[in-house]
Formats: sequence, C-alpha cells, structure tokens
Amino acid sequence: MPLFPRAPRSPLYPVFSRYVLTSLFAFSLSAALAQPALAGVNVVATTQDLASLTEAVGGSNVTVSYIARGDLDPHFIDAKPSYMVKLSSANLLIAVGLDLEVGWLPSLVTGSRNPKIVAGSLGYLDASTAIKPIEVPSGSIDRSQGDLHPGGNPHYWMNPENGRKVARLIEQRLEALDAAHAADYKANLARFEATLTSKEAQWTAALAPFRGSAVIGYHPTFDYFADAYGLKVVGFVEPKPGIPPTPKHSLELAGIARAEGVKFVFVEPYHNPEDARSIGSNSGAKVLSMPTSVGGMTGVNTYTDLFDTLVRLITTGK
Ligand SMILES: [Zn+2]
Repeated sequence: MPLFPRAPRSPLYPVFSRYVLTSLFAFSLSAALAQPALAGVNVVATTQDLASLTEAVGGSNVTVSYIARGDLDPHFIDAKPSYMVKLSSANLLIAVGLDLEVGWLPSLVTGSRNPKIVAGSLGYLDASTAIKPIEVPSGSIDRSQGDLHPGGNPHYWMNPENGRKVARLIEQRLEALDAAHAADYKANLARFEATLTSKEAQWTAALAPFRGSAVIGYHPTFDYFADAYGLKVVGFVEPKPGIPPTPKHSLELAGIARAEGVKFVFVEPYHNPEDARSIGSNSGAKVLSMPTSVGGMTGVNTYTDLFDTLVRLITTGK
C-alpha cells in the first residue's frame, strides 16, 4: 500500500495549477514530517521484549515499535492517545496475552480504528499461544485472591525457551503477512536461535551453583525464570499478586526466608526495593533489583541482554 496515494488531478488543474501544486506539496511535506516513512511490515509490540524478538526475526523487512517501556509495570500502562496513533497504521500488533494488557490494550485498539489489528485477524498476534502457561488457577477465581490472571502467569518471556517459541511464532506470522521475504525471516530466525542456544549454555552453566536455591519474588514476575534455572520461589513480597506489601506480611516472610535459607529477594525496577529491605535485613537474603524486560535497566537492549544481565546480577550479587 503506498504511503502517499497519488492525489487525483483537479479538473481546475490548468487554472490553479500553481496554487494546487504548491498546496499539495505543502500538504505532503507536512504529512511526511508528521509521520516518518515506514519500511516493510509495520509492527507494534506491546512490550520491548516482543519488540526485540520481532526485530531479531524481522530484520530490515520490518519497522518495529512498542507501547510499554521495559522499566514500567506492564500491568498498568496509561492508554495515551499517541499509542492509538501508533496503532492506527500498524499491519501487525503483537501482545503478550494471558490478560497482562487487559487494563489498557483493548481501549487502545478500539481508539486506533484499525480493523487490521483486532483480535482474530491476521494483524493480531497473541504471543502466549506459543507457550505453555504455568500457575493456571484452578476453580473459580475472584478479586479476593488479588490480581490473578485466569489463563495463567503472563510473565513467560522470562524463560528463554519461551522466547524461542515466541520468535518462531512471530516468524510464521511475518511470513503470512509478507511471503515475499519468507527466506529472510527463516534465515533471521535460524541466526537468532543459534545465538540463543549458545547463550543458554552459558547461562545454565553460570547459574548451576544456584540450582535448588530458595528465592523470594516481589510479584510472580520471576517464576518462569526460576523454573528455567532450578530456583525455588518460596514467597512474594506482595501478600497477593498486585496487592502492596504490609509490615505484617513482610515479617512473616522474613521468618520464611530464615527458615528456608533464602538467598535472594528479586525486585522489579518499578517496585521499591525498600519494601523488601526488612526481609533481607531480618534473614540475610540479598535484595536484588532485577530487570524484567528489555529496556528495564541500562545496558539491557536486546532479549539476550536481559538474561546476560539477570545472570550477572545473580552471580555477582550486585
Ligand atoms: Zn503479573
């Protein structure tokens, strides 16, 4: 689809040619300034992790942007009009799914008035369909259990094997949208997987001494990461998901931390590590501020950077 459709020739062209040409030029110039020319498939990802995976697979055939910055809590993003504008020209919207974005994405998609990216269309990709969720609640759930996600824990990108599965799913969808570049997408995916495989061997080796270690999370953000590397999550700073910590709960948790010999308390960049300080000082566990996304901390610019940084923080303790 051309970005600037050819303007129909005015019947008054001979008379007003100069005027028409000048104003058309001014119009297209201002349109060009307002909206930079986009190359290839225009992808909007809800998070920086999905954006990074899409860049790895899409390469030069895609233009990728994201909505939620990696240092912000992805459950709570302000639905700004600028995000609707971004979505209005997207060919593909990629979401984490499992209700992570339920508080802000539906209104953005509606506001974008872009029928190409509504759920069920080729331009909408729920990345969670690539993975097997953990912590799927059984029985009926209600608000008394905190901010529970009925489909399971949505923080699945924290396991690099899930990143691999999502990258494969993105590759398939890019092929479906842009068959002319299928060979490029396949080659990019193969390159990404090769890098990931060799990195995973390094991460597994580096974290081997920590296998079986007890840890406490702030929120269930690190559960997939813990699963991937054999860490044992024995509690959360939040009394229930999404519910702020209380002094009483923190005191109980310090007891659990002492009893279980907890090594680390993992805190997301958007939560206050001070909330976990009392647990650490009462038990000897180390409080670590850890990125949970690409963009979550300085130097975390790609999906593999995320795990490089997590592994470095755990192995050096800072
Ligand atoms: Zn969550």
